[in-house]
Amino acid sequence: MHTKIAIIGAGVIGLTSAIKLQENGFDVTIFARDIQENIASRAAPAFWIPYKAAPEEAVLKWAKESLSVYQHFGKDIGVELLPYQEFHAHPIDLPWWAKIVTDYDDIQLPHLPLGFTVGYAAKLYRIDSSIYVDYLIRRFQKQNGMLHQMAFQHLDNVPSEFQIIINCCGVSSSTFVNDPDSYPIRGQFLLTEKPEGFNTITFTSVNNDGYTLIVPRTNDCYIGGTTNEGDWNMTPDASTSTQILNRATAIVPALAGVNILKTGVGLRPGRKTVRVQTEKLNDQRTVVHNYGHGGAGFTISWGCADEVVKLVQQI
Ligand SMILES: Cc1cc2nc3c(=O)[nH]c(=O)nc-3n(C[C@H](O)[C@H](O)[C@H](O)COP(=O)(O)OP(=O)(O)OC[C@H]3O[C@@H](n4cnc5c(N)ncnc54)[C@H](O)[C@@H]3O)c2cc1C
Repeated sequence: MHTKIAIIGAGVIGLTSAIKLQENGFDVTIFARDIQENIASRAAPAFWIPYKAAPEEAVLKWAKESLSVYQHFGKDIGVELLPYQEFHAHPIDLPWWAKIVTDYDDIQLPHLPLGFTVGYAAKLYRIDSSIYVDYLIRRFQKQNGMLHQMAFQHLDNVPSEFQIIINCCGVSSSTFVNDPDSYPIRGQFLLTEKPEGFNTITFTSVNNDGYTLIVPRTNDCYIGGTTNEGDWNMTPDASTSTQILNRATAIVPALAGVNILKTGVGLRPGRKTVRVQTEKLNDQRTVVHNYGHGGAGFTISWGCADEVVKLVQQI
């Protein structure tokens, strides 16, 4: 008889874990409170960048493993290798993760926008969440996976027919499993029409609260954003949206006057370190936690899912 596994969460982490477990012979059912809305995975642009996730060594390993998976995906599911440019007002060291991106290079002064003194360029994978998350759901369901919209108060409430539980509840971990190390990292963003011919992921550091991120996607353009640690507010602030758009337009003038399709907020599941770890429940069932991926859930999802499979195989 196959071991029956319940996964809590239908974000990128729950879905990727589910697919990897199915492909290793397990019978997997997903339970999720939210599927289409109100989850980090639907609020991310997203692209491959190990942002606000720790510890460094494990994140690098998972990011590298995930990169090797994205290399086999294509535009039909929202994955595309795009030019990337990064600008800073003050000198900074190369990002700690740059060593796994082969073509990282300096951008010289004449090519920097006004007000910036340092720039880097590379090619990075864009993983368009508006297409990719639904692809993961289809792949899971095609492999006979069941997805139920249902919330649990506690892990103990998961029906006893499931011998193993995988907890991929994202930012809810602070209450769902009372994890004091978990916290939200609020990100406000806009979706606009895509300016004709614009296809470069663009990132600038500004200050502790606001940065500019422009991610051209398949059918729209994502503009961020903010990183407010500990802020649970899901309502977009109008003046913040104006500031985000003004900053982005200063870098990419083609954004001036584009139609705004949506303003939104997402909560990155922040944690001191990503938690991929087993724990015994009172009823002796085992839970494997997989949460706390910060701003890098898409970037490290496949590597973390491999680790979950290894932990399940050891049970
Ligand atoms: C603005 C923003 C920009 C980002 N940009 C990027 C990027 O460019 N690249 C990148 O790699 N990452 C990015 N991220 C981070 C990435 O989106 C997250 O790390 C990732 O989505 C986390 O996935 P998750 O599945 O853990 O959580 P979520 O997607 O939040 O999913 C959690 C799931 O658990 C369910 N759940 C929670 N509690 C319960 C319960 N009690 N019972 C049942 N179900 C429950 C929820 O309903 C949901 O289905 C960004 C995030 C934000 C917000």
